Amino acid sequence: MPKTKPPKPAGADASKADFACPADASRDLAPDLRKASERARLIIETLPYIREFSGQTVVIKYGGNAMIDETLKQSFARGVVLLKYVGVNPVIVHGGGPQIGRMLKALNIESHFRQGLRVTDDATMDVVEMVLVGKVNKEIVNLINLAGGRAVGLSGKDGMLIRAEKKELAVESADAPTEIIDLGMVGEVTSIETGVLKSLMGSGIIPVIAPVGVDDLGRTYNINADSVAGAVAGAMRAKRLHLLTDVPGVLDRDKRLIASMTSTKAFQAIESGVVAGGMIPKLQCALEAIMAGVEKVHIIDGRVENCVLLEMFTTCGIGTEITR
Ligand code: ADP
Ligand code: MG
Repeated sequence: MPKTKPPKPAGADASKADFACPADASRDLAPDLRKASERARLIIETLPYIREFSGQTVVIKYGGNAMIDETLKQSFARGVVLLKYVGVNPVIVHGGGPQIGRMLKALNIESHFRQGLRVTDDATMDVVEMVLVGKVNKEIVNLINLAGGRAVGLSGKDGMLIRAEKKELAVESADAPTEIIDLGMVGEVTSIETGVLKSLMGSGIIPVIAPVGVDDLGRTYNINADSVAGAVAGAMRAKRLHLLTDVPGVLDRDKRLIASMTSTKAFQAIESGVVAGGMIPKLQCALEAIMAGVEKVHIIDGRVENCVLLEMFTTCGIGTEITR
């Protein structure tokens, strides 16, 4: 659902009128040239946005359908490369739940979920790491490189990028003592080694991160990709965090899209149960990212082609925007 974007910050708001084509001159052009002129006008209209985002870090959590559908995959990669060419520093964090599920099934390893999190024993952790780091990560790196960018894939172990610890899941209920659920090797981020990302970005490289963390003893953890994206965005002081998903955004109880939420509203949505399952870590990481200084977080529909570019470079906002 389109929403009106708030005014641009001072400095970024070079008025669109400054770039408008003199209508009289273009009216006399041949049809082909007029079409091309219109295209040129559309490009020039993105200048205020390019000025706003150039030199800034933008973290994108890539997952769901956008990672399966061939057309969406290609446009995603081209979009990321375009961002790089207009001076934005994109950082990609990817998921891979469905790919992990398929491999576990093929290997006859059973999976159980508690509160949307995959209970990860040692055998499952091996598969998670192999699929995310060995397969999914390299596929995305390949896609971006083929689209004309220079991407390098990393897991949390590379340069100790993602430090993690075991996640404790406490389940509270009114009539029983709080239960602590053992999720095995499911982890949460304790810190992000930003130096690794900065040196890659300084060399014009697009980092692509698999959500696998490591602790002080070298143990490997399976971490929700949204949480990693939020932690990376916060640690890198990113201007934006985009979380791509398979729904139009955050939906209210009547399944209507919530176009914009403050942090307080997002917190209430978690507490009141308006959001459930995989949407909980998205809002939680959005809150953490905003607390760490990220200006805005967008939960957007990855099924919409060029969704990140639409959100960043046009007046049409898509999905749910979360602000301070
Ligand atoms: P991914 O992380 O790949 O984007 P998830 O399945 O982890 O996908 O998270 C998105 C899912 O969260 C949606 O498909 C939907 O089923 C669920 N969800 C729960 N509550 C809401 C809500 N209020 N609005 C939108 N999605 C919700
Ligand atoms: Mg998820």
